Amino acid sequence: MRLKKIALACAMAFTLALPFSGFTANGPVSVVEAASSASVCEKAKTTLTPTVNSVAQVTFTVTKSSKVKLAKDLNTILGITMTNGASKTISVDGVKKKLINKGGTIYIDDKTLVDYVKSISSTTTTVEWTVNTKTAQNLQKFAALSASYSYKIAIDGVVFKNFTSSTVNIGGKTYNYTVNGNSIVFEGNVKSALKGINCATVSYSDAHVLKKYAAVYATPFKRGRRTYYKCTECGKIFSNSSCDKEVTVDDLRTSTFKANSGVLQSTEGPQADGQWYKVKNGVADTSFTGFASNANGWWYIVDGKVDFSVTDIVKGKVNGVSGWWYVKEGKVTEITSVEKTSKGYWVIQNGKVNTSFTGFASNANGWWYAVNGKVTMKTTGIFKGTVDGVTGWWYVKNSKVQSSFTGIASNENGKWYVKNGQVQFGYSGKVVYNGKTYTIVDGKVQ
Ligand SMILES: [Zn+2]
Repeated sequence: MRLKKIALACAMAFTLALPFSGFTANGPVSVVEAASSASVCEKAKTTLTPTVNSVAQVTFTVTKSSKVKLAKDLNTILGITMTNGASKTISVDGVKKKLINKGGTIYIDDKTLVDYVKSISSTTTTVEWTVNTKTAQNLQKFAALSASYSYKIAIDGVVFKNFTSSTVNIGGKTYNYTVNGNSIVFEGNVKSALKGINCATVSYSDAHVLKKYAAVYATPFKRGRRTYYKCTECGKIFSNSSCDKEVTVDDLRTSTFKANSGVLQSTEGPQADGQWYKVKNGVADTSFTGFASNANGWWYIVDGKVDFSVTDIVKGKVNGVSGWWYVKEGKVTEITSVEKTSKGYWVIQNGKVNTSFTGFASNANGWWYAVNGKVTMKTTGIFKGTVDGVTGWWYVKNSKVQSSFTGIASNENGKWYVKNGQVQFGYSGKVVYNGKTYTIVDGKVQ
C-alpha cells in the first residue's frame, strides 16, 4: 500500500482537542528518591495550559483507504466546537479555506469535508487551525479517533506524536498525561521538551525529595519534635511522607505538658514523668521558686517543680498578697489554726501567718497565747483576751490556756483565783488550793 502524504493546514477558530494550544506547564511533582532515609511523595509534573488563538499545525499521513475515515473524524472533531451554522477559517496546505457547519456536516468552501479530503491527491495534508483553551479536552477526543491513520501535531514547532488517551510522544520520548480542566498535565519534567511553545503557559513542579527526621521526644525540661519530612529540593516540611500535610517548625514541637504554661502535670509522651511543674513555653521553668496557681489552687514551686514534701510556712506572694503562707504537702492551705512550722508555732488565718495578731488562737489541741502571731510555747502568765468567745483574763502556761485549771495562779500584779483557766473577778471569799486557804476579794488573793 502506498502512503500519500497530505498536508492539511487548518486555521480554525474552533476549539480543538489539542493538548497544546496555550500551554501552561504546572509542574506536577516529581519525586526523587534520595538516600536510604529519603522517600518520595509526588511525581514531578509539567502542566501545559494553552492560550487562546494559538496556531496548531497537524500533519496527517493517510492511505487512500483511510482518507474517508480521517475526513469523518475531522468532521466529528470540528463539530464538537463548531455549532451549527458557525463558520471558521482554516488553512489547508497553506491555502485559506472557509469552514462552515451545516447541520453537523462540515463544508470546506462548497464541498463537504469528506469530499474535499477525498479530492486531495496527496497522502500528506497539513492543516492549521487556531487552537484555544479547550485544546486539552479536544485532544483526548482526537486521539481516540486516530486509529487508522497517523498524524503529528506541532505547536510552535514542538511536535506531538502518537497521541493516545493517556500518552503522547514529544521529542522522541513518551509521556503519560492527563487532562485537567483546560490543561494537560504530563508526568515528569517535560519543560525542556516544551520549550519553544509560545502559545501556552508551561509550569513545572518538582518532586519533593524527602529526608525523614525521626521524632525527638520531649522531656519535662526540653521540648521535643514530631517526626517530619523535609524536601531537600524546596525546603518544605511535611508531617507525612505523602507530602499532603505541610507543616511549620512550630507545628512540630511537642511537650510533655498539655498546655504551654501553668502548673501542669507532665503526662504527654514516653518521657513524661508524671510530676507537676510550673510550665513556661512547654517546659518546666526551673528558674522559678515561689507560688503559682492552677485550677486546683496555689502551689509551692521549688526550681520549677511542685514540692509536695513541703509542709511549712513559706514566704511569698499568693494571689497578689505577700506574706508567710501555710503550705501543706506543697499546696497553700487556707486553714485557720496554730501550726507547728520549721520556724516555731504560728497563728495562721486563712492560710496566712498573721504577724500582727496578739491574743488567743486555737487549734485542735486547745487555745494558745500568741504575740505578733507567734506562739513561743514558753509564755506563762495571766493575759487578757477572748477564748472560745469568752473575754476575760486567762491563765496561760507554756503559752497554752489552762482551761482545765482551777486554783491560784499569779502574774506580775499578784495572785488570782482561776477557775477553768479564767480569773474569777466576780468572786470574793475563801478558796482552798493545794491544802492552803486563800482569801479572795474580786478574784484577787489578799
Ligand atoms: Zn520539594
